[in-house]
Amino acid sequence: MLYLSTRGHPERRRFCEILLEGLAPDGGLYLPERYPQVDAATLARWRSVFNGGAAGGYAALAFEVLSLYIDDIPAADLQALCARTYTEAVYGTAAIVPLKPLQDPSAGPEQVGFYLEALSNGPTLAFKDMAMQLLGNLFEYELARRGEELNILGATSGDTGSAAEYAMRGKQGVRVFMLSPHGRMSPFQQAQMFSLMDDNIHNIAIEGVFDDCQDIVKAVSNDLAFKRQYRIGTVNSINWARLLAQVVYYFAGYFQATRSDTEQVSFTVPSGNFGNVCAGHVARMMGLPIAQLVVATNENDVLDEFFRTGVYRLRASADTHETSSPSMDISKASNFERFVFDLLDRDGARVKALFGDALGQTGRFDLGADPAFAQAATRYGFVSGKSTHADRLATIRDTFARFGVMIDTHTADGVKVAREHLQPGVPMIVLETALPIKFAETIVEALGRLPERPARFEGIEALPKRVQVMPAETRAVQAYVAHICNKKGI
Ligand SMILES: *Cc1c(COP(=O)(O)O)cnc(C)c1O
Repeated sequence: MLYLSTRGHPERRRFCEILLEGLAPDGGLYLPERYPQVDAATLARWRSVFNGGAAGGYAALAFEVLSLYIDDIPAADLQALCARTYTEAVYGTAAIVPLKPLQDPSAGPEQVGFYLEALSNGPTLAFKDMAMQLLGNLFEYELARRGEELNILGATSGDTGSAAEYAMRGKQGVRVFMLSPHGRMSPFQQAQMFSLMDDNIHNIAIEGVFDDCQDIVKAVSNDLAFKRQYRIGTVNSINWARLLAQVVYYFAGYFQATRSDTEQVSFTVPSGNFGNVCAGHVARMMGLPIAQLVVATNENDVLDEFFRTGVYRLRASADTHETSSPSMDISKASNFERFVFDLLDRDGARVKALFGDALGQTGRFDLGADPAFAQAATRYGFVSGKSTHADRLATIRDTFARFGVMIDTHTADGVKVAREHLQPGVPMIVLETALPIKFAETIVEALGRLPERPARFEGIEALPKRVQVMPAETRAVQAYVAHICNKKGI
């Protein structure tokens, strides 16, 4: 399998070549040249692999999916990487991503099922672990094979940073420098990250906001001499390997919600950077019988606006709402270009004109009058909706009162929007993207009580913390990275 850029660059690359990289040389995103097709016989085989107990299960299914896209890692090694990543010991459940029924009596008798797919049982209690844990093992494997080392520099407002640190901690050849806005993450999130004492994990609290952190990461990445000398890399959500890892749980959700491979299901995905739901798009393009992909946004409705009107309009930082589902507070959706590439029949020149030129110049483009736009719904199954703080509170209360299930604020956005898109006879699966303990303040506001805390997180706020506080200056961060690298030998 070879990978190409969404902006038409002629070069084709292999999986391990793009694994450690961000954007393609022309600023585009990588996608496979084609989507492998899963025919009826393969789907049936995968169902029995997934249901296959000790020898099968999620890790074995992950190997099946990944091996269609990765042909430059020997099969036995890839199989071992999957087996090491998706274990009961890490996820606390043999099913890894169990479905929880949330049957909705008000939806009427035709509604055949309404489920949450639990993707948040990993080390940091958000779905980002599902991909990041695999990425940690892939990075360690590939760096060892090349005899190289990598310094990962990232910016986080919460979930991404902790997922990256827990995936990379103790890994050979990888060091993490994670920037976060000083004093702005929840106490739980700060405790999760800052209590890590691993030698290769470095937390940097920047005296500023999240945008300052992101600007510093960009500035360091644009300093090519520094980047090369200190082998700076990233783990952001445009990484193809992260997206690929997420394709697996669409299949796993499907096999749990259906008995036969002719049934259809729909998925609702709480969305920010469009990475998670883009993996659903890939699964659907491979032939998984998905009726609808429902994109749920919060007040930051860049994506909902596009799917309603065809207008894609970036927001200024000042117009980005700070909401109670903060991991979806985005001003642009960095993976969205991948879907538009498919929507425009993979016309790289047009994608370059839209994302490279129009967005840069005017901050928007409009496909509303383009015949392709209607196909987002008709051919690709995309619909959307949005949710507000009041909706979130009401949905958390309602779900707890009727089903005794406590959901987090992002998942609540999904449940609210999913209910607006139910179709008779089609089960609906809402992806649970985090556990409520990560966003306790809003749960208390909704329910007047604290969420449950998994036993392994008892008392983490009281643990010793290791973090460097720094001014919002690129030079200060570069000096710190250089100091650590020179001390240990790059
Ligand atoms: C990252 C995140 C999202 C958004 O996912 P995308 O892949 O960026 O669309 C939603 N919910 C939670 C809890 C997250 O951490």
